[in-house]
This record gives sequence, C-alpha cells and structure tokens, in this order.
Amino acid sequence: MKIFEKIDRTILLLLVFLIILFSLFFYLSFVEKKIREYNSLHDKLSTLEIIDKDFNNFALLIDEFKNYNKLNENVHLFQNTLTQLESDILKQYPHNIEIQQKVKNIEKTFINKTENLEYFKSLNSTLINTSHFLFDLQRTISDNTKISPETKNVINETLFYLLKYTTTNYINKRLLTSHLKEILKRSQNKDEALVYNFYTHAKLMLATLATLKETSHEIQTDSLYKTIHTLHTQLDTIYHHNLKTNKHLTLLFFISAILLVIILLREHLQSIKAERELYAFKYAVEHSDNTIVITNPQRDITFVNDVFTKITGYTKEEALGQNPNILKSGKQNDDFYHELNQKLDKGEKWEGEFINKRKDGSLYYENASIVPILSHKKLTGYLAIKLDVTKYVQQNKELALAASVFENIEEAIIITDAQRKTISVNDAFCKIYGYNSEEMQGQTLKVLYSGLQDSLFYSHMWKELEEHTLWRGKIINKTKGGSLIPVWSTIKKITDKNGEVINYISVQTDIRELESSQKRIDYLAYHDQLTGLYNRNHFEDYLAHALLLAQRNKENLALLFVDLDRFKIINDTLGHDIGDKVLVEIAKRLQHILRESDFIARWGGDEFVIILENIHAAKDSAKVAAHIINTLKEPIIIEPYNLTTTASVGIALYPENGEDANTLIKHADSAMYLAKDKGKNTFRYYTQELSNEIQSRLNIDLALRNALQNSEFYMVFQPQYSLATGKLISLEALIRWENDELGFIQPDKFIPIAEESGSIVNIGYFVFEESCKALVQMRHKGINVHYIAINVASMQFKEPNLLHIFLSLLKTYNLKASDIEIEITERFIMEPTFENMALLQRFREHGFRISIDDFGTGYSSMAYLKNLPADTIKIDKAFVDGIEEKSADNVIIEAIIALSKTLGYSIVAEGIEKQEQEDFLHAKECDYGQGYLFSKPLRESELIEKFSKF
Ligand code: C2E
Ligand code: CA
Ligand code: CA
Repeated sequence: MKIFEKIDRTILLLLVFLIILFSLFFYLSFVEKKIREYNSLHDKLSTLEIIDKDFNNFALLIDEFKNYNKLNENVHLFQNTLTQLESDILKQYPHNIEIQQKVKNIEKTFINKTENLEYFKSLNSTLINTSHFLFDLQRTISDNTKISPETKNVINETLFYLLKYTTTNYINKRLLTSHLKEILKRSQNKDEALVYNFYTHAKLMLATLATLKETSHEIQTDSLYKTIHTLHTQLDTIYHHNLKTNKHLTLLFFISAILLVIILLREHLQSIKAERELYAFKYAVEHSDNTIVITNPQRDITFVNDVFTKITGYTKEEALGQNPNILKSGKQNDDFYHELNQKLDKGEKWEGEFINKRKDGSLYYENASIVPILSHKKLTGYLAIKLDVTKYVQQNKELALAASVFENIEEAIIITDAQRKTISVNDAFCKIYGYNSEEMQGQTLKVLYSGLQDSLFYSHMWKELEEHTLWRGKIINKTKGGSLIPVWSTIKKITDKNGEVINYISVQTDIRELESSQKRIDYLAYHDQLTGLYNRNHFEDYLAHALLLAQRNKENLALLFVDLDRFKIINDTLGHDIGDKVLVEIAKRLQHILRESDFIARWGGDEFVIILENIHAAKDSAKVAAHIINTLKEPIIIEPYNLTTTASVGIALYPENGEDANTLIKHADSAMYLAKDKGKNTFRYYTQELSNEIQSRLNIDLALRNALQNSEFYMVFQPQYSLATGKLISLEALIRWENDELGFIQPDKFIPIAEESGSIVNIGYFVFEESCKALVQMRHKGINVHYIAINVASMQFKEPNLLHIFLSLLKTYNLKASDIEIEITERFIMEPTFENMALLQRFREHGFRISIDDFGTGYSSMAYLKNLPADTIKIDKAFVDGIEEKSADNVIIEAIIALSKTLGYSIVAEGIEKQEQEDFLHAKECDYGQGYLFSKPLRESELIEKFSKF
C-alpha cells in the first residue's frame, strides 16, 4: 500500500514541477514582451528628444537661410511619434494618470514650441530681407558721390556692426546707437533721403534682430526637452524596478524547480530502496523456515511459501483459493476457532498452537501467529506465520513420558553428571535406600557401597563402562539404615555427539524377593506343574545337550512323540478335573516303565515326548513304544468312571532321521500323525513310508488341478433315516474321484490336499450343483427327500462369493435354501470364532440348515454347543464304533445326545454298521442314523432304483 502512496506523491511532485516549468516559460515570454514594449517607448522618447535637439539647432543660427522643409518634416515626425507614444502609454499604463499627464505636458510644450518656431521663421525671413536691402542701399550710397565720405563711413561701420550683431551679442551697442544717431543727424542736414532710408531700415533690422534673439532664446530654453526627459526617466525607473522584480521572480521559479528536482530525485532513490527492501522481504518470505500464508478478507488463500507446500503436502496450485481450514484436523474444538476468529474480527493479533492435518492425513503441530493486514484502516487480508513444532511437541511428549516412567517405575534410578556426582534420583530409589533426593544431590554412588565388593570389582566395573558404555551385574548395596540389599544394576554412560560424557544412568532392581524365590522359579521353569514331569522348555535344552553328547560319542538316540487318542473328549464331557487325573495317571505310568536314564517331558496338552539315549538299534525304540502303547491302553479307574484311552506314538531316530533338534521333533511329530492316520493305538517310525506319503500328496495335488476339467469327479449320496420311523429323511452328498493314473482316491485323502491348494473352492461348486441336480431328479421321481446334506470345507468359507453363488445355483434349479444342509467340520467352528460364527449365522439367515460334522473328534469342547448357529450335530463314527465295547464312549454319546437335545439340535449318528449300535442310539433318542447298516453311498441312478420301489 505504501508503494502506491509513494507513486501518487511522485506523480504529484512531477506535475508541480511541470507547472512551475511552464509558468517560468510563460513568465519569461511575458517579461520579454515588457522589455520589447519598454524598448519601443524608449526609442520613441529618444526620437522625440533628438527632434527637440533639431528644433533647438534650427533656432540657434540667425540670419541664415533655413531649410523649412526639414523643419516641417521634423514637426510631423514629432507629432506622429508623440501620438504613438500616447497610445502605447495608454495601453501599457492605463491606470497611471501621472505618466499620462506627462505625455499631455509634452504635447502642450510641443505646441508652444512649434508656435515659437513659426514666429522665429517669419522674423528670420524679415531679417534676411532687411539685411539684403541695407546691403543694396549701402552700395547705392557708396556709389553716390554727393554723400560725404564721412557719412559713407558711418554707414559702412553701422552695417558692419549690424551684421556682426546677427552672429554675436558681443558688440559695442552704444557705439552702434551713437552711429545710428550720427546717421539720423546727417540725413536731416542735407536732404539726404538715401541716408534716412538707411537709418529707418537699420533701426528696423536692429529691432527685428532683438526680437529674433529673444525668440531663439525662448526656443532654446523651453521645457520640451525636460518634459520628455522626465517621462523618460520615470519610465526608466519603472522599467528597472520591474526588471529587478522579474529577476527575483525568475530566480524564485528557478530555485523551486531545482528544489523539486532534488525532491523527485530523493523520492526515486527511496523508491529504489523500497523496491530492494520489498525484494528482500519477498526473498525472506520465500526462504523462511516459517510457513507463511496470506489470505484475502474472505479467508481465501492468496499466497503460500515453499515451506507451506513442504509441510502440508499441498501444492501451491492446490492451496491457492482454498480456505485454510483444509488443514483442520478436528482435534481442536469449536471454542478454539471461535476465540481465534473473535480476536481477528477485533483486528487483533492471534497467537497459539494448531493441531493440523497434512494432505496425507497425518497430523502436525504449528506455533502460529495471525494478524489482520490493515491498509488505511481497511482490512485487506490476513497474514499467518507458522512454525512446525511437531518434532518439539513429540520430544516434549517423550520427555513427559520419560519423566513419568522415571517417577513411576519400580526400579531405582540414579542419574549422575560426568563427574559421577548425583543429579537426580527417583522415588523408587528413595524408597529402597531410605535417602531423600536432597541428601543424594552431589553424592557419588560410593555412599551405597556395602564393602562386600572389593575395589577390584569396582575398577573392573568402571573400566567396562568406559569401554563399552554399559555395565550390568549384581551388586550388594547398603541402605541409609545400614541394611544390605542385592540389586541387579545396569549402568549406562551417556555421551554427546563428540563422545564426551554427559551423564551416567544407573537402573537398579531390588532382587531380594527374587533371590528367595529363585529356587521355586527354577523348578517352575523346568517342570510341568500338573504331572511333575519336565516341561517343554527343559526338554528342548535337554535335547540339544543330549544331541551334542550323542554326536561326540557317536551314539544313537531316539525321540518318541506320544499323543493320547481322543483325550479331549474325555476332558470336555467329563470335566477338566477328570482330564487332569487321567494325565497324572498317564505320566505316572510312563515314568514307571522308562529307565532312569530316559528323559520324559510333557510337550503340552495330551502330548508327551521321550528321549531314549544311547540305544543300540531302532528296534529298541520300537520295544519301548509298544510297551508304552500297551501300558496306556489299560483302563484307568477314576471313580465312578472306568476310562480307556489309547496312545499313538511317532519315533524319529538320530542320526538317520535328522541331526538337529528341530528336524527330529518335526519328524517324530509327523510319525505320530501317521500312527493316528493308520488307525491310532499304534506307533510309527519316521521312515521312507512318510516320504512316500509326502510324494503321493504331491502327485494328488498335481492331478487335482485338472480333475474338474477332465470330469474325473462324480457324486454319490448316502441316505439318512429317522431312527424312530425308519423313513428316509435326507441324503449326504459325497464326492468320488477316479483318476487315470492314480486310480480311485479316497476323499479323506484328496480333500485335505484340495483344501491346502485352494482347488476345493471350484470342486465345492461342482458338488453343490450336482447335489442340486440330484435332489431335483429324486423329487421328480417322487422320492421324498427333505433336504440334502452337502459337506463344505472351511477353506470354501474364505471365498467371499460363496453365499452369493450358492444362492444363484439354488435359483437356477428352483430350490430353496432350506433344501440344503451344510455340513461343516467341528474344526471350522474352533477357528477364530467370532467371524466364523457370524458367517454361519448369515447362511442360516438365508434359510440354509447347518450341521456340525464329526462332532467329538477331539477339538471342540461341549461348551461350544451352547452358542452354535447350527441345526444338527453329527456324532462321529469313532464314537459309534465304540458303542459295542460298552466303554466310556457310551457315556460320552449319552452326554452329547442329552445336551444337544436340551439345546434344540437334531442328532445324526454316522457310520452305524451294527444292529446293536442302532438299538443303543435309538434307545438314547438319537434322531437320525446313517451307515452301511442302512445303505452305502449310492449313485443317483442306484438311489432312484432303490427308493422308487417303495
Ligand atoms: P464325512 O463327512 O464324515 O463323511 C462320512 C464318511 O463316512 C463317508 O466317507 C462315508 O462313505 C463314510 N461312511 C458312511 N457310513 C459308513 C459306515 O457305516 N462304515 C464306514 N466305515 N464308513 C461309512 P467318504 O465318502 O470316504 O468321505 C470321507 C470324508 O471326505 C467325508 O467325511 C468328508 O469329510 C470328506 N468329503 C467327502 N465328500 C466331500 C465333499 O463333497 N466335500 C467335502 N468338503 N468333503 C467331502
Ligand atoms: Ca459329512
Ligand atoms: Ca463325519
């Protein structure tokens, strides 16, 4: 704004300068005109004066021939000049009466003079005539002899004097008068007419001469010249006076023009300076560390500097025209902005801290000041200068956190300076040692020395600290009260950038309690609380140690993995107490049958690991395994139950099956799964068999990839009957796979592989569609099937479109969701539960029936039954198999059926092969049965044939 003012001023000054210059120009031309006018007056007056001189000269000489023409011309010239003068004066001095009067005087005097001149002219003519007559008369008298020579003489002398008198006044006038008297006398004597004539004419000439001289004198001395001259002097005086004023005025103009030029020059220099300052200011703004934002009064951004773009992530183009509230993070409430706006509206400066948001959404802190920009008391915008203090705020937060840790931690903390003198201790320190923080100020750690460590100990400590910046160890210190306390101390040396020590920090943990409980801790660390066997940690340590020994002594070693079959169901149905007792009994039996030198540990849950060291042959371990299996299968009596549990054992041998702990454990584990696979209650080595297994899985995986395309799959359906009425209720859809190279492969084998590779998803859609088709066909043939049960693997549920595709397939075949029962395995509901439960719930809400397959196979607990989004519980074949033995399984089945019924589920028992099984289940009110006793799974055509008969 200032710049605009300045420019305005400069222009004004320039204007004034020009006006002065023009005025000077006009003034000078005015002065020049005045000079010209004066000169013309001056010339005219001089002309008048010269003519006047001519007039006087004219009247000076007497008795001479005069040029009367010249005189007339002069009179004429005088008159003309005077008239001009008069008109000039009237023009130039219209108000100066005095001067005009003077001109009038000249005129008057001039008229007077011309009259005198006329008179002089006529007298002079008379004189010339008279003198000529006298001459002629004198010659006549001289020639006349009658006249006496004396008379002639007197006449001659008289004429001589008379003539002389015309040119000079210095003649003897008395002599002339006496001569005239003489002549008169002589003329009377003798009739001398000539002489008398001479006398009268001489007398006339004398009289004319006298008058003439008088007139000439009058002309010479009249005031015409004076009147002209006075006017001339007065005009001169006025002129010179004016000239002086003119000079002063011109000088004044000139000086003011010069002054203006100086001022303009200064303005120019100042504007150059201002421009430079402006440039410097702009440079500073652009390169400032501060964010600078300028808005217009409507708060639209009109300027941002580079720092703004760097800090906010907005480009200048994005920011310009925006309201600064694009940076609002929402972390500050409306009051904050209200206060800000109030201040700005009042025209005051606002200062404070913003929590703002960058373009990428991250937060940052700014110290800001905002000022309204006023120009001539009018608001023209707002200027915000802001400094990013995010780092500082974070540092402060960290400091605050550190301070709170310092005060609240249970460890004693001592901070010293570089001279190892205490600067600060925390509350925990005061509590442990009994000193308060004032007492500790300036003290070294020596006040804590108990004397139980010698000086060598401390010198080692400090040496280590200086060299490695950290020392850790146990020290026994002394409290203020004198008691000794063991502490675990960590001392750290803090240095600056140059490696100079700034502080030492010692953190000390009071380990009194720890020390007393150390023994118990050691025990807990290595033993399983329930069974008293070693735990997994200790097992791993021990195995590593045993492997080292075996390697050194070139001995063999066997690792046995023992897993109880179906332990979980005992735990879940009969309760943890019973489960625990079973485990304790098993541990006892294991300990009992093993040698002193064998190592046994509980791996976790119902799994145990055994290390057999220094064995001679693989078969030694087989003997032990068989022994274990036989011992564990003996019934366990825990009142009132008589429980049977069997074990599966996997064996891995060192060095054949692996040389390190991890490989051996992994292989023993795989061998154990193999044993379970092979029907449980048995043991397996980790052998070629297992490698073959892995190979065959690979082959299956490969073949599966093309199976759908090659139409290698087909479906079979196994009927489910009502145990009460014996009527067909539903069908379970089961897939079959026949591959050219691999032959017929059991679903148990390929389904888990398909799950792993993900091909189960498309296989699943095939199963679903085929099942729909079959159901429609059966119903078409008049066979009453309430619904069809389809196995859906957990993997399939990971497919987000599953529900959608199922529904659209249903639509294609004109079926309802309630025509389908989805069988999901127990394992599925065991997985991270909430999500899976919600998923099942969604299917249910669409009308699908849900059935929990293979229930009781060891993963889920009965407790889960309570909240399942399911309609049916399917008791696993393993339990049905157990029925004949009249063992714990009967109890378990009873419990499952009873609980499920209370909770409103239908119960299906699968794998019913014997009549007594069906009888038992029927008696216990199991709803439905499925098994070879009723029917094997059949092809669609077989089913139609079978059921159409009814
Ligand atoms: P699952 O769901 O438990 O199916 C029941 C299995 O028991 C079927 O074996 C069936 O043939 C068999 N079975 C039924 N009654 C008896 C009996 O009285 N005695 C004996 N020993 N077995 C009986 P299958 O068809 O070999 O299927 C094995 C497993 O493969 C199924 O167990 C299921 O988990 C899976 N599976 C089969 N088809 C499909 C399918 O289409 N999709 C999915 N995801 N899994 C399937
Ligand atoms: Ca099933
Ligand atoms: Ca099953």
